[in-house]
Amino acid sequence: MVSNPTTVSYRLFASGYCTAHDWIVDPKNGRGKALFYAVWLLIDHPRHGLYVFDTGYSPRFLEATRHFPDKFYGWATPAFIQKEETAMAQLAQAGIKPSDLSGMIISHFHADHVAGMLDFPKIPVICHSAAMEQVLSVKGFGAVRHGIVKTLIPTDLRERARVITEDSVVADKALMQNLDGPSSLQFQDLFGDGSVELAQLPGHARGQLGIRIHTADHTLFFATDAAWRKSTLEAGILPSPTVKLFFDDWAAYKTTFSALRNYQQVFPMHRLLFTHCPETLNYITSFHP
Ligand SMILES: [Zn+2]
Repeated sequence: MVSNPTTVSYRLFASGYCTAHDWIVDPKNGRGKALFYAVWLLIDHPRHGLYVFDTGYSPRFLEATRHFPDKFYGWATPAFIQKEETAMAQLAQAGIKPSDLSGMIISHFHADHVAGMLDFPKIPVICHSAAMEQVLSVKGFGAVRHGIVKTLIPTDLRERARVITEDSVVADKALMQNLDGPSSLQFQDLFGDGSVELAQLPGHARGQLGIRIHTADHTLFFATDAAWRKSTLEAGILPSPTVKLFFDDWAAYKTTFSALRNYQQVFPMHRLLFTHCPETLNYITSFHP
């Protein structure tokens, strides 16, 4: 990167995990169980303050999925979370109160990314407009099918939302020079200083966002659930087609997946991580499996 006067710092955390069959992640080589840790970020911007990006699980998910239809969600992805592992509890250990945050950025509204949202009332919520409209409109089985547990979503979401739309993004110019138009990724400069960008990663969930952060010594591209495992992305192994049942758009997922493979070739020096990838756990300082 050329000189960038504003650099931010970040920390990765995990709040709980769920389990699923490994063959869903890797239909070629998967066996046994896969653990999906719910990883989230704390971002520290020198002028805009502290933001969380996603929130991980909270025991509220276990409570919410005791009854039908949400009980199906708990069966599909059995979750494990202690109350001292929540985003709020881990921030408290770092001396940070929910009211110290300037805002929260939500990649998408699947329960393992938003179960902690209610612990952070009042602060602005940055999310994709399409993701917000979907989460506010789905109900009952329709919500469960889309990975959404309505009781985890703040009732004042619309009032607090600062939405990202399809038009508000610009294609990454550096990437455009190396890639074909349709397979390039789109980023939006969040603070207007080039330090933090939100990436549009359609397919897995409606309006899914990733985040790219330029720190003093490296660039992180946290591409959320656009792939579940870096090794399968590198090998070009797509998840089992059974995920089509709850993915938003399989064709878009495949396009995003191949754009990420290209991205990694164009920017091998960037730290490309995914929410649920085991490799990501190496970057969590407080993590003790
Ligand atoms: Zn997801």
